[in-house]
Amino acid sequence: SLAATMRGGYKDYGFGDTAVRALDGINVDIARHEFTAIMGPSGSGKSTLLHTLAGLDKLTAGESSIADIVITQLPEAKVTEVRRDHIGFVFQSFNLIPSLTAKENITLPLDISGKPVEKSWFDEIIGILGLGDRLTHLPAELSGGQQQRVAVARALVARPEIIFADEPSGNLDSRSGAELLGFMRRAVKEFGQTIVMVTHDPSAAAYADRILFLEDGQIVDEMREPTADRVL
Ligand code: ADP
Ligand code: ADP
Repeated sequence: SLAATMRGGYKDYGFGDTAVRALDGINVDIARHEFTAIMGPSGSGKSTLLHTLAGLDKLTAGESSIADIVITQLPEAKVTEVRRDHIGFVFQSFNLIPSLTAKENITLPLDISGKPVEKSWFDEIIGILGLGDRLTHLPAELSGGQQQRVAVARALVARPEIIFADEPSGNLDSRSGAELLGFMRRAVKEFGQTIVMVTHDPSAAAYADRILFLEDGQIVDEMREPTADRVL
């Protein structure tokens, strides 16, 4: 049983002569309880791969699955349901709602799906992320690092099987970034999370168990057990 898969994945933007092939025959398995990083130059297809794996965007051809459910042929409403039941997404730009407090932003996925807040889990996430004294603040009152930690807490609160994260440390200074990545790694090692993260930063990718290297929409290389010196 795999957290996510893609078989013969193609993604074209536009049509005819001006079409851009963003994914060019992707085959990938995302194992459960693993921290996978996707690296590659700008324009190589990293965001497109993350978005199609997460069911936020449709493949042009090929098949993908989340939690053993093939999503490629499902109607949009069903894909939304699969996303809600199985994944969390951390956007590079945080995507917090400005009028809601940190706590309200974090519990939003639960409120939307009508699930109760599991207090001990909520407290554990908040404690580890160091957000205890920030819960009543609005996003504008938080630093970039705190906002990104709120975005990660929001992705974790419903205990999704898989978290997809697009450059989660991209807007953070190196200390906040290292703290966040350390937490994400703990979530995999201690809570059994599955995480797929896009990054262009080798020192961020070094936190992962496995790095996939993309070039021109193809996976051209893969590295297991990376360390900072090997990735650099
Ligand atoms: P990366 O995340 O590695 O920078 P992207 O997945 O964003 O790469 O983009 C891959 C290719 O697809 C690039 O050539 C990009 O310009 C193109 N692309 C991405 N999104 C769109 C879009 N919505 N419309 C047209 N072209 C796009
Ligand atoms: P990232 O930094 O995550 O790679 P990008 O800057 O590549 O993001 O893209 C940001 C947004 O713009 C995405 O939603 C992507 O689909 C869209 N986009 C990227 N390239 C193009 C393009 N050539 N034409 C239209 N939209 C694009």
